[in-house]
Amino acid sequence: MADRIQMKVPLVEMDGDEMTRIIWQDIKDILLTPYIDLKTVYYDLGLKKRDETDDRITVEAAEATQKYGVAVKCATITPNAQRVKEYDLKQMWKSPNGTIRAILDGTVFRTPIIVNNIKPFVKTWEKPITIARHAYGDVYKGVEMKIETKGKAEIIFTGEDGHLSREVIHDFAGPGIVMAMHNLDKSIESFARACFNYALDQRQDLWFATKDTISKKYDHTFKDIFQDIYAREYHDKFSVAGIEYFYTLIDDAVARVVRSSGGFIWACKNYDGDVMSDMVATAFGSLAMMTSVLVSPDGYFEYEAAHGTVTRHYNQYLKGEETSTNPVATLFAWTGALRKRGELDGTSSLVQFAGELEQAALDTIEKGIMTKDLALLAEGDKKIVNTREFLEEVNARFKFMQKS
Ligand code: NAP
Ligand code: MG
Repeated sequence: MADRIQMKVPLVEMDGDEMTRIIWQDIKDILLTPYIDLKTVYYDLGLKKRDETDDRITVEAAEATQKYGVAVKCATITPNAQRVKEYDLKQMWKSPNGTIRAILDGTVFRTPIIVNNIKPFVKTWEKPITIARHAYGDVYKGVEMKIETKGKAEIIFTGEDGHLSREVIHDFAGPGIVMAMHNLDKSIESFARACFNYALDQRQDLWFATKDTISKKYDHTFKDIFQDIYAREYHDKFSVAGIEYFYTLIDDAVARVVRSSGGFIWACKNYDGDVMSDMVATAFGSLAMMTSVLVSPDGYFEYEAAHGTVTRHYNQYLKGEETSTNPVATLFAWTGALRKRGELDGTSSLVQFAGELEQAALDTIEKGIMTKDLALLAEGDKKIVNTREFLEEVNARFKFMQKS
């Protein structure tokens, strides 16, 4: 096709596993390559290839993202003992997402995809709420101890120069528990910058909350670092963009989020983000309608679906059974990456394509044509289709939009 959209710079494409690997190819065949002269630098992060390359392929894919700037990633298996057997693996390779995140040093932003026939459980929510979760430290790197007898627990810090600082945690009269956790100014700073940059990119307000009234040093440091970076680097940019940075206490934030109409980014400390992202995803409807983007402080982007490889459906597929797996979040990973590529390269046709393809997908669902998972949630008339039929329906709508 002569008039396909041309790309100036390739996307880093990270292929994956199981059902999402099948969907990946279908999306490319049905919705992308007919319209775009798709340029990608391809990395196969399927488990077999990771094993063959001793997982070097994952590191290379992350490094390519640093070189090209924008990546799109398919869901991948994180091996456990059972997978080691199933794939006869040399070892239990680490989570690819963890490896990539460690190299790109990013923050993950998760946003629900909203359609008008699936009502959020929270009636006031009209626009998506994006959760930005800090992905380093706190309780996830906590050191814990069970106290069995009477005694004193202390925190001791030994400076490089040998200087000691100590704080008594508690004088135990009997058994109990203690925990110590940490974070790093550098990590909090890059988290803050990733959030401020993403808010500017999306032109949405940024909320941040901690428990600084109780945690006067630990949480207060998060508050101070955010405030300081905001005042020095972002205040003016936020004014120009017409958006706000809003700090409050975490309990106040929870109450406000539930009463809000959505349409903002909610930055969360590691544990808060873990808990709140499941709450927000569930309250909006479905994990199959959540997108996820890793944004690095250096301005690299990696787009993916929030869900996994949908193993149960893949097992049905392997038996030759019909599968109705929802491809929307994976499709939006592609459109997100293509839009970003278009914005960075000044290829407006690519930006427009991404927007129209997303609209075609939303229209399809809003007209009642959907995969099985959504049929359980949607109101009104509905026709359940399999994955390929759904993509063909999206294509039909997209083609129609091009004519009208
Ligand atoms: P999952 O793949 O997200 O699927 C869990 C269940 O959620 C599915 O069985 C299905 O429910 C439903 N579901 C998820 N996505 C769906 C979609 N697109 N359409 C329809 N239903 C969908 O999680 P999992 O089964 O816990 O994990 C499977 C594999 O994925 C694991 O090997 C894990 O390591 C990996 N994983 C990868 C990532 C990633 O790469 N980012 C993230 C999470 C998990 P029903 O069975 O009820 O239909
Ligand atoms: Mg969790």
